[in-house]
Amino acid sequence: MTMEIQIQNVSMTYPNGKQALKDLTLNLHGPSLIGLLGPNGAGKSTLMKLLVSALKPTSGAIRIDGAPLEKAEQRLKEQLGYLPQDFGLFDELTAAGFLDYMAALKNLKNPKDAVKESICAVNLKEKAKAGIRTLSGGQRQRVGIAQALLGNPSCLIFDEPTVGLDPQERIHFRNLFSQMAQDRLVLLSTHIIEDVQSVCDQLVVMNHGKILFAGTPEQLIKMAVGHVGVFWEQEAAWEQGLHITARVNTSRGIRCKAVADTLPAFVREEEPSLEDAYLYLISREVDQ
Ligand code: ADP
Repeated sequence: MTMEIQIQNVSMTYPNGKQALKDLTLNLHGPSLIGLLGPNGAGKSTLMKLLVSALKPTSGAIRIDGAPLEKAEQRLKEQLGYLPQDFGLFDELTAAGFLDYMAALKNLKNPKDAVKESICAVNLKEKAKAGIRTLSGGQRQRVGIAQALLGNPSCLIFDEPTVGLDPQERIHFRNLFSQMAQDRLVLLSTHIIEDVQSVCDQLVVMNHGKILFAGTPEQLIKMAVGHVGVFWEQEAAWEQGLHITARVNTSRGIRCKAVADTLPAFVREEEPSLEDAYLYLISREVDQ
């Protein structure tokens, strides 16, 4: 119960002339939990909207299990759970009432069971009868995630699913996404490394409408080996091309961490973390 999505030379320019995606080519196939990482404005939401057929690319093609998206659109929508970024909930309904409504739109066979299941999955049992208007930001986000899970879709696309969630809730959802990804394709976008660090088996890093990296977290870290280091600020000479990623006041002085294509002599090399590797990748693009 999974699918393959092929993105071939896809570009997207909005009617106002803004080019949000530039000649993207990428293969996504499940089962996998794929993290789509990139700064705000990188093009993550645009890519997701294209994948769920909410937008059409200006050029290029998207194929679902080998069939062009235009032809597979109906099948895709039946198998798809999608959480958009600005998800307008129906404020006047209760959480359960809203999910009933979404289950009806999805034409599910056993809507009552599906709603119960998804409410349990997002830990929202106590609030099922509460009006959406009365829910906190995190609880509303959970209702949004619940509607994406309705009917057990074989592909899940979550646009910044952890927005508004507290640290405990984030961990709950990370684990839930990881479970879901055991037998399906799950794609989630975020600009927060911790969201992908412990759960994603594949990462796609985007910036300025382009893909900078696609592969495993280990491969991303490997790319940054030799490009991350630490130094004491007082010992440092000013260097061009050095991107400071951390600065900590300690009793011995100010300890800095930096990424660079070539580390200057005063910088002691360190094992990169996933965050270091991500920052190195983004910094290289800024330099170009
Ligand atoms: P991300 O999800 O990574 O933050 P988006 O896909 O939302 O990035 O946006 C990519 C770029 O496209 C940004 O420069 C954004 O301002 C622009 N953009 C997004 N939506 C629209 C739109 N409807 N019309 C014009 N430009 C848009």
